Amino acid sequence: MDFSLSKEQKFFKGQVSRALSRIVAPFADSIDKTDMFPRELFRELGALGYYGIRYPSDIGGMGADCISFTILAEELARASIGFAAIATMQCLMGTDFVYRFGNARQKRKYLIPAIKGNKIGTIAFTEPDCGSDLGGIKTRAVKNDRGYVLTGRKLWITDGDVADFVTVAATTDPGKRLGGIGFFLVEKGTPGFSTGQKIDKISARGAATMELIFDECQVPAESLMGEEGKGAKYLNDILSEIRIMIAGLGLGLAKSAFVAGLNYARQREAFGRPIGKFQLIEEKLAEMEVRIKAAELLTYHAAWLKDNGSLTGKQAAMAKFYSTEAACYVVDEVSRIHGAYGLAEEYPAQRYFRDARFLLFGGGTSEILKTIIAKDVMKRSDFEIN
Ligand SMILES: Cc1cc2nc3c(=O)[nH]c(=O)nc-3n(C[C@H](O)[C@H](O)[C@H](O)COP(=O)(O)OP(=O)(O)OC[C@H]3O[C@@H](n4cnc5c(N)ncnc54)[C@H](O)[C@@H]3O)c2cc1C
Repeated sequence: MDFSLSKEQKFFKGQVSRALSRIVAPFADSIDKTDMFPRELFRELGALGYYGIRYPSDIGGMGADCISFTILAEELARASIGFAAIATMQCLMGTDFVYRFGNARQKRKYLIPAIKGNKIGTIAFTEPDCGSDLGGIKTRAVKNDRGYVLTGRKLWITDGDVADFVTVAATTDPGKRLGGIGFFLVEKGTPGFSTGQKIDKISARGAATMELIFDECQVPAESLMGEEGKGAKYLNDILSEIRIMIAGLGLGLAKSAFVAGLNYARQREAFGRPIGKFQLIEEKLAEMEVRIKAAELLTYHAAWLKDNGSLTGKQAAMAKFYSTEAACYVVDEVSRIHGAYGLAEEYPAQRYFRDARFLLFGGGTSEILKTIIAKDVMKRSDFEIN
């Protein structure tokens, strides 16, 4: 067993960490307070090529492995969860369908500018009445001689206010549930496509979550990404990668929060000594340290398995479940260590506390992930280390 990063991965980690702590971290607070999309920052990171981390070099990508993408997610979250939500959407879910299923024109028009940070992409499957249960979506895609007509509403769509293109889930056959779903590429400005309400939220601010409305929105046949009825399978094909990426976000946030808690425990005094010297505070630090380390091992193990072609859905589910729950645990303990100041705007502890909640939903809730893990466990007759 070798748990160390390769020379290239270590170099990449150092480079990304330095770049993001210089470029992004100083704006974490203002992104949170203003809740505005940080356009300049977005472009700046595009110029560094990070949005193309998963894509091959012939289209302007970095062609990096899953471990490197996880490193990027972790470092983004250490700097700012709001910005990390924006950047990781651009790296993966917002652009991946165009990469896999777009024709040459669509790749030129959407994907290549997106990799450079000149266009913004997002994905829309969640609806007002339906999140985890993808098979229950109501947005319809009706075929006609000009392509498809989309009708329905989406909610909670990251960057929905600023996105130049959206990959939208719609059903051509509601009776087939998951088997009826297709994903359609829709450009901003297409007649019948508009943005509705913004959901004001307490977490991952800066990455606005929007309602999108499709009112008899005519799209050409080439908008269908891949084949009719295969959308759920296509999404499933990248779901483990999404989960590992979010596990990386959890890890980064937990580490940032931990450092804030540790520094505060060293400097704040009560009863004539630093609070970090009290055993009950030491116990918090020890618990957090162990959970972060366990999250790190599960997350990078899953990324390593992905890079070696032997990842199972369970491994990715375990990484996302554990890392995001560990982040929630850590931010809670860090808030308590700060006492009343854990609630004060002037300390980042309150931001970490709010931001960790965002990690629990996208890519599958903890309940859904535990269901996946349990299903696998139920098939076994003994404990296997894999
Ligand atoms: C900040 C943020 C950004 C987002 N961005 C996007 C985006 O860009 N695009 C997009 O399409 N969506 C986005 N989402 C939505 C996200 O994908 C959904 O929140 C997620 O799929 C869960 O759906 P839901 O919130 O409707 O919860 P529901 O599915 O309604 O679940 C509610 C509760 O019931 C539990 N539950 C549901 N089913 C089961 C079950 N079978 N067994 C046990 N428990 C169950 C859940 O675990 C949860 O606790 C975003 C969400 C957030 C918070």
